[in-house]
This record gives sequence, C-alpha cells and structure tokens, in this order.
Amino acid sequence: MAMCKSAPVVPLLRHLLLAGAAFAVVYAPGAPISTLGIEASAQNMPPVFQRNDRDGDGRLSKREFPGPPQVFDRLDADNSGYLTPQEVRRGGRRGGSRTDAQGQSGRQQGGQRSAGDTALPATTRKGPLRFVDTHIHLHQLGLDKTHGNQGGGREQGRREPMDEAANLAAAARNLIARMDQQRLQTALIVVVPSSREGRAQSYHLMRNAVRDHPGRLRLLAGGSLLGEMLVELPAGAVTDDVKQRFRKTAEKLLDDGAAGFGEMISYHLCMNPKHKFEYVPPNHPLFLELADIAAEQNVAIDLHMEAIETRADMPGNLRRRCSKNPGTLEPTIPGLEELLRHNRKARIVWEHIGWDNTGQMTPSLMRRLLQSHTNLYLSLRVPRQLQSKDGRVFPNRIVDLDRRIKPDWLRLITEFPDRIMLGADEFVGPGPEKAKLAASFESTWAIIDQLPKDIAAKIGGDNARRVFNLTPP
Ligand SMILES: [Zn+2]
Ligand SMILES: [Zn+2]
Repeated sequence: MAMCKSAPVVPLLRHLLLAGAAFAVVYAPGAPISTLGIEASAQNMPPVFQRNDRDGDGRLSKREFPGPPQVFDRLDADNSGYLTPQEVRRGGRRGGSRTDAQGQSGRQQGGQRSAGDTALPATTRKGPLRFVDTHIHLHQLGLDKTHGNQGGGREQGRREPMDEAANLAAAARNLIARMDQQRLQTALIVVVPSSREGRAQSYHLMRNAVRDHPGRLRLLAGGSLLGEMLVELPAGAVTDDVKQRFRKTAEKLLDDGAAGFGEMISYHLCMNPKHKFEYVPPNHPLFLELADIAAEQNVAIDLHMEAIETRADMPGNLRRRCSKNPGTLEPTIPGLEELLRHNRKARIVWEHIGWDNTGQMTPSLMRRLLQSHTNLYLSLRVPRQLQSKDGRVFPNRIVDLDRRIKPDWLRLITEFPDRIMLGADEFVGPGPEKAKLAASFESTWAIIDQLPKDIAAKIGGDNARRVFNLTPP
C-alpha cells in the first residue's frame, strides 16, 4: 500500500542503510549486537542491523527500524512485519508473484539462509522458568514442509517413509529450547489428527512425545478421538449409548495422563487447500456432555472457535482461500453461551483470541462474555503476520503494527487479569528452521514484557496453572 506513495525515497534510503548512516535511534549499549555468528557473520549484515537490531534476532522490527514507517513497509517485501538483510539489500523490489515461502525455498537452494527465518532470537528475558503456554502443536515434519513450500517437501513427500515418533521427539526438543529462551516452564500440547495412520495414531504419537518431558510438556487430548465423534454424529444421532461411549473415551484419555481436553473444534475455517472446514455447534449434545465430564474430573476444555455473533456472508478472502468454506458464517456465540451456562463448573478456555478471521472477535464482545460467564477464559495469540500480502491490516489483532498492545485490549487484560492467558498455537517441527507459516510463538510471548509485573505473572503463568491444575514452578 505504501509502495506507490514512497517509492522515490527508497533507493536513497536503502543506500543510507547499507552505508550505515546514523539515525536518531541508537543501538542500545550493552545489548548483544547479534547472536547470528553461525547464520550470518557481522560482516555480511548491513550496518543498519548492527546498529538497530536491539534484540539481536537478525531482523528489524518496525520499532527497531530507524527510518519512516512508509519506507519500512516498502522494504518489507513479504509483509512479515520484519526486515531481513536480504530485503534491505533488495531495496523494496517486490518479488513479483513469488510468494514468501517460495522465496525461502530459493534461498535455501542457493545455500544461504535468511537470518530472520532461521536464527533464534537473543535471550532477553531473565529469571526462573515461570510461564505457561496453553496451546502448542508438535509437527512431525514442519508446517512449511507439509504444505510443500520448501525444497524438503519434495524429498520428504507424503509417501516417503518417515519415523513420525523420532520426528515428534525432535520437535519436542526444539520446542523446549524455545521455551527456555522465553522462560516458559510448561507448554500444553494439543492433539489434532495429523498422523498418516489415522486419529488413534495421532493421539498415541503425541502422548508419547509429551511423556518424555514430564514437567515441561503436558497433553491436552481429545482433539482427534473425541473430535471424530463430534464431527461425525449430528445432534439427533446422539443416544445414551453414544454418550456412554464418548464418556468412556474421554475418561480413558485423562487416566492416560492428559491434563485436559483439546484441541476441541467447534468452528474451524479452511485456510489452505490442505485444511478442512469443520463446524460442530458448541451446544452440540456431546459438547455439553464433555462440559459435564470436565467439571466432574476438574479439568478444562481448550476450544477452537471463530467468533460469529450473527449470520453473515463468508468474507470474500476466505472463500477465495479455500473452496470448502461455505457461503455463510453460522453464529457460534449463542451456542457457546449455552455451553457455558450448561455447567458453570466446566472451565472453557477459548483459544486464538487475537487471530480473528471474521472481523467479529472484538474486545467489547470478549468483555461482555467474560462478564456474563465466570467459567470462560481467553487465551491470546499474536501471529507474526499482522497484514495480508496486499497490505490489508487484519482485524482485532492484540497488537498494532509497532507490536504494542492496543489500548482496548490492554484495558480488557487489566479488567480481567485472572481470566486471560497466552497460547501461541505455533507448529513446532523437527528441523532447525522455524516454520514461517502460522509463526506466532515469539510474537505472542513478546507481549508479556509490555504488561505490569503482577499482571504478567497471572497472564503468563498463574492463570494457566490454576485453570489446568498444573504444578507451580
Ligand atoms: Zn486451533
Ligand atoms: Zn491449534
């Protein structure tokens, strides 16, 4: 969007950036210049990075960038919200129709990695391991690879043999390294069907990967085995016999060590051709049954659901993204309220707040629901991507383009400090590279530093430990 307005400024500014011209923003003394010794030596980093990359992650955020915001937008060729050395060198030449992920593939084939994609951020947070992420996925291949966007996708295609258990074990180790950097004590790993062998296998593989790390990883189960019954059985087909079977499965998952139920899907939009569209009304009789089981067993339910208050046309971008999305959005909020009223002892943690796809996930709706339902909890997610490729700013994100928490969300957090937590929903794979698709771990945990200490302690760890019955650090 800023492309036309500011185009003439860019070549000059790029020249200044490469030459290391000083701007008003000075590199903070004492902070690491860069942790990128392996990926990119200081010599091949443009000087503007050495000066301004204050967190040393090898890329410049909008806040770190010393020039005008329009120039940042122009240089940020993939609209990721960060400038890489390559983007500064290219000087805002948009890569035609080449997508972000294709660009990654091209760089890897050329033997050169983008520092911003692969380098780990500097550890800036200190102190004991104390935080809890309520929603993380382990992925047996890495999200980018399953979506066929990287060179590895061809070599390790769907039909190639793969040791899923070994890959998930490697993914778990990668996650724990990233948790250490953010000072996370525990992450809750959610099960969704992703194994090629089916739903039961998805559950068993994930359970085993988590079991190797007691204390650091806990499982939220049911997303594959209970989810299957929810999706396949229309409300009218739920007999007492079905409820009994559902209950048996749920109780077995808890006996087996699950800390709660997740990821339970009520309304899941299809975002790419490999996704499914799924819709199970939140007041489906088996969701009500699950609430009763959760209340009896004193565990919580992790819920994936788009915010839809009123029936509306499916937004055009979602229809274009995936033909499986239906023509209309069905209201989910009334059903959620029925579920919450059904059993006040059932704690429901609504995930992905801040990742709004319908435009209806507003702070004011969240406030009304939190006020009306004492058993509702929200888990915030801050995706790395805040704008679409064509420059459209996504609605109702928790942070603005400078990655500061927006005032109306900050007000909500301050009003309900005991009801909100963080759940990054990142897919962590076995490889050394971080997935670009759905990247959200570091961007979600970055907001904790913007909160007052007492609120940060609650949102970052205490609430999740209380609601999910986890042991304190
Ligand atoms: Zn989800
Ligand atoms: Zn998820």
